[in-house]
Amino acid sequence: MSQGVRTSPEGSGRALSEVYDTALLDLDGVVYAGGEAIAHAVGSLATARTGGMRLAYVTNNALRTPEAVAAHLTELGIRAEASDIVTSAQAVARLIADQVPRGARVLVIGGEGLRVALRERGLEPVESAEDEPVAVVQGYGGPELPWGRFAEASYAIARGLPWFASNTDLTIPSARGIAPGNGAAVEVVRIATGAEPQVAGKPLPPMHRETILRTGAERPLVVGDRLDTDIEGAFNGGVDSLLVLTGVTDGALLLAAPPRHRPTYVDADLRGLLTGQPEITREGEGFRCGGWTASASADAGRLEVTGDGEALDGLRALCAAAWTAAGEGVCELDGGKALARLGL
Ligand SMILES: [Mg+2]
Repeated sequence: MSQGVRTSPEGSGRALSEVYDTALLDLDGVVYAGGEAIAHAVGSLATARTGGMRLAYVTNNALRTPEAVAAHLTELGIRAEASDIVTSAQAVARLIADQVPRGARVLVIGGEGLRVALRERGLEPVESAEDEPVAVVQGYGGPELPWGRFAEASYAIARGLPWFASNTDLTIPSARGIAPGNGAAVEVVRIATGAEPQVAGKPLPPMHRETILRTGAERPLVVGDRLDTDIEGAFNGGVDSLLVLTGVTDGALLLAAPPRHRPTYVDADLRGLLTGQPEITREGEGFRCGGWTASASADAGRLEVTGDGEALDGLRALCAAAWTAAGEGVCELDGGKALARLGL
């Protein structure tokens, strides 16, 4: 389990799908990208599931209902039911329900996922500040959300109503590039009102709590592509994590990770669930993984790697060197040359 300062990715003799009972999988950049399945995702998930691992999908995106997300996964060839999906809409609905009377009206700025999640908690979604809401909730509303919805939120918040946000991811990946996410929309309302929302999504505790409540996971493994949501969420929840390199994180970001952003394991893609993870051993001043040895050279101001073999083993060895050198801080040594040597 995550304790203290992580100074290297860990090894595991057994497949991760056998070590952990439940995978808590992020979607974008892990399972799919731009609506299409990521290479090796479909087969790896099917094998992990057949082997007895429970799969749950945990998304900060509050727009779609769990049914819609499950239907999308099924379309991609991944067996999933609505009960396998956990969204930030569900997490924020529980957060609101803890603070307002049952049956209370909540002004919704966002999509159908939020409305369904509120009803599930016995709350009544309404559309206008004049509908006597007792709280305001804001989640990603998609590209068609009218600007007037932000005005509606601002009117209600100015009257002193508590304001909730499903998540604050500033961007959202789309097939055509990077688009403004719910965090950007929240900033619009924050600037207009000067208020601060209560936030539920990854990496914050309400989302982790929702995930554990819904999955009943006893030994969960968080699987994600983002250090500041997926991996930090696992760190905050005290559970282990697997970073896959199919999304937004590259080798340079990983080497510069502060302790709360350091995953337990690193792999190229979801095939990492099915294999053991190689051990990293100390070798003199360096760290060895597979055929590679990495070290931190403070004099030269850079990280170095020698050897050959699987590039990923070289990256794991470099993480050990960088994170050990950085301790509780951030490694400032240049890893560019070493990563280029690995072809990463
Ligand atoms: Mg992601």
